[in-house]
Amino acid sequence: MHQTLPLLSAIQFKKVIRNRLATLQVNLGYRCNQACVHCHVAASPKRSEEMSKETIDAVLMFLAKQKIRQLDLTGGAPELNPHFLYLVETAAKSGIHVIDRCNLTILEEPGQEHLADFLASHRVSIIASLPCYLEDNVDKQRGNGVFAASVRGLLRLNGLGYGFEGTELQLDLVFNPQGPVLPPSQMELEASYKHQLRTRHGIEFNRLFTLANMPIQRFGSQLISNGQFDDYLNLLQAAHSDENLEQLMCKSLISVDWQGYVYDCDFNQMLNIPLQWDGRNRLHISELLHAEFFNAPVQVAGHCFGCSAGQGSSCQGALNSAIK
Ligand code: SF4
Ligand code: SF4
Repeated sequence: MHQTLPLLSAIQFKKVIRNRLATLQVNLGYRCNQACVHCHVAASPKRSEEMSKETIDAVLMFLAKQKIRQLDLTGGAPELNPHFLYLVETAAKSGIHVIDRCNLTILEEPGQEHLADFLASHRVSIIASLPCYLEDNVDKQRGNGVFAASVRGLLRLNGLGYGFEGTELQLDLVFNPQGPVLPPSQMELEASYKHQLRTRHGIEFNRLFTLANMPIQRFGSQLISNGQFDDYLNLLQAAHSDENLEQLMCKSLISVDWQGYVYDCDFNQMLNIPLQWDGRNRLHISELLHAEFFNAPVQVAGHCFGCSAGQGSSCQGALNSAIK
């Protein structure tokens, strides 16, 4: 869905220059056991795109050469890539902190019975989407039975030691608003989630990340169809805060698609805006083993206000949760 791109390119965003690279975010493919209506990559059980072993080896080589300490795995359901265990095991053995963006229902899929134990034994952090603590709202967005399966998944992870304060096994949840509004205060919503999930289901988790909706892909299309695209962009621009600029995730992260091509972030990947380096673009990760990213410019456009508005937004939630 690229029809929002011309509109977004026309909007000026402040220049962003990279710091040191700390995180590599890797999309392992579009296959998923679910097919959520809002999915930004239209993942489903029918999709067959997946990262090859050859590209996974290029990713591992890149991590080693660039001395990157954090690997953030996404998809689809990243666990459905046949080389997922190999990638996690190899990275964890080298002391790299691995994050799995897990949809929770995958833990109950046939053939994935070992998954929760595997993640715990490799100290993999889990970030899981849970758009509400109420069953009806979650099932409406993600499909019938998803809330109950998510609760079972969270309890199983708690049983392995995930989600408790002071533990090495980090379990974080993700919330994003349903409509064209900014997320509420991360701190306040986290307190409500903790209270509700503990009292209703006995669930513990570490942090709640609130993410702003980006005016791209399916959400961008929806805004255009509803005649709300300009209003939402105006809202994001009006809520821009310079305080968020230093912490934008693209300052310290790059994103790789399932074929191994590189972008400044996951959103630029979705918009097909490639990372530029040394005057070149459409670069494969295997071409960047020795690249120096420090001080390199980031490709920015109007959608970037989704990261800088209000308390700020990133794959790790609010950039400045003190802002309300
Ligand atoms: S679980 Fe995530 S990746 Fe899978 S379809 Fe839903 S939103 Fe997409
Ligand atoms: S959308 Fe991507 S490039 Fe733009 S500010 Fe956010 S992280 Fe940076």
